[in-house]
Parts: sequence; structure tokens; C-alpha cells
Amino acid sequence: MESNHETMSQPEKIAIEPINLLERLQAGEDFSAIMKELPEAAFAVKKKCACCSDGRFEPSDAIMEKSGLAGQGILLLFSPAEREAFINNLKSRADRPEAIASHVGCGAAGLAFKELQKMIAEERSVDEIFSWLGISALPETSDELGEIFTKRLAQEVGSEYYHMADFAPGKEKHNESGIIVSAIDFDERFIKVGDQQFFNSASAQYGVSDEYLRTELTKLAEIAFHHGKMEHDLESPFYLLLLGNSGNMDRLMKVAALVASDPQFNGRIKIEASIRG
Ligand SMILES: [Zn+2]
Repeated sequence: MESNHETMSQPEKIAIEPINLLERLQAGEDFSAIMKELPEAAFAVKKKCACCSDGRFEPSDAIMEKSGLAGQGILLLFSPAEREAFINNLKSRADRPEAIASHVGCGAAGLAFKELQKMIAEERSVDEIFSWLGISALPETSDELGEIFTKRLAQEVGSEYYHMADFAPGKEKHNESGIIVSAIDFDERFIKVGDQQFFNSASAQYGVSDEYLRTELTKLAEIAFHHGKMEHDLESPFYLLLLGNSGNMDRLMKVAALVASDPQFNGRIKIEASIRG
């Protein structure tokens, strides 16, 4: 275990020269060809933080790779069996996340909070959920709920927990141009330049169902279309950037096609895929 840890650890911050993926996609270049230019290090197994998919946040130490999950998986609160499978997957992997982090203003935590309020108003039982969270009443705010959930998840998985309480300067607003949907290890720092934002969904790697994945991608796209860039930018497409291998790409394509065909997005979602191995 000790030697394994040493091989996984990084010598401080890794030197990365990112490519401007967004600009090149918008110029009509082929996604798959662009991805082939990236060094091996972009796909290597690294220490990772399971953080929210939210494009405004990344691991605060700049050492860990971001492995994105909407609200760190908070929407799985409502499906006990899938939540259990997700936790078992996370804790049994060799590349178990070093850290799991919550953040201020989390939209997914907001959705979970509203759903719990609704369940309580309709007198549906929230006992199983509260008992798992270790609470006896709904907290005051969705951010508190997000913190409680994430702390509990980190404890179950055996990862460190931390909270990102502030927005990085200039990143207060959503500005995502697409979602990096990865079914293989990928370090988004290799394709982001300046203040660009992409949502990050690595959920497909963690044993979730197709239905969950579809919900996650739909909710993220909704944020872009209702609270972000796509609300105002009627010219550019919103990208679903699929990264996988020959064994899992069909699944990503199938789910992405369902998300893209949702009429609320008005045909403005473009699917691009890159298969590695
Ligand atoms: Zn979030």
C-alpha cells in the first residue's frame, strides 16, 4: 500500500501547457484529432479530487486532477441502492479519490434540498435519507445540506473532506461551453485556457446507471442554458465532449444522444467523441 501511494503521488504541481480546445472546436477542427495531440500525462492515473461538475470550481491545491460529479453525487441520495453501489465503487478502487470536496452555491445541492422540502411537504418519508446523513431535520440552507452530504460521503469512502467556500476571482458566474464526459481517466487542465469553463462529468466511471448519467448531463446543460453562457450566446453550440474507449463509448453515445435530443435545448447541443484504446 505504501509503495503504491508513492507511485501515485505527484512532485508538486505538474507542468501543463494546455491547448485551447474550445477555440479549435469553434474553428471547426476535429475533436478526436485534437485529443490525439495531448501528451500521455493527460490520461495518466493521478491523485484525484471528486469535486462538483460545476465548471467554476477545481481542486484548490492545483495538484489533484478533478473528477467531476454533480454535487459529488448528491442526487443519488434519493436512490439508496444506487448510492450504495456508487460508494462501494469509490472505496474499492485503486485510484480512490484522495479528497472529496463540496463548494459554495452548489446547484445540485439546491436541487436535492428542494426535493427534500417537497417530500416533507407531501408527507413522504425522508427517514432513510436523514438517517444516512445523520441528521434529524432539514438544515437551513442547501449549502449546509451539500456539506453534510459530502462530509458523510468522504467518511464512507475514506477520503479527505474539504469545502470550497469562495469563488475564484472572475468565476462567480457560470460560463460553461460544454461538458467533458469521461468514461476514462482524463485531466481537464490539459484543455482549458484562461477563464474558460467546462462542466466535468466523470460519473460514468463510478458505476452509476444510464438513467442517472442522463439526469446529470441534462441538469448540467440546463444550468448552461438557463444561468450561463448559452442563455445569451445563440450562435455557438454547447458541446458534449465524450471521452472513452471501445468498451464504453457506445454507452456514452447513447446517453448523450438522449440528452441532446431534449427539445428544451433546441438542437444547440453538439456531440463530439474521442476514443482512446
Ligand atoms: Zn455544485
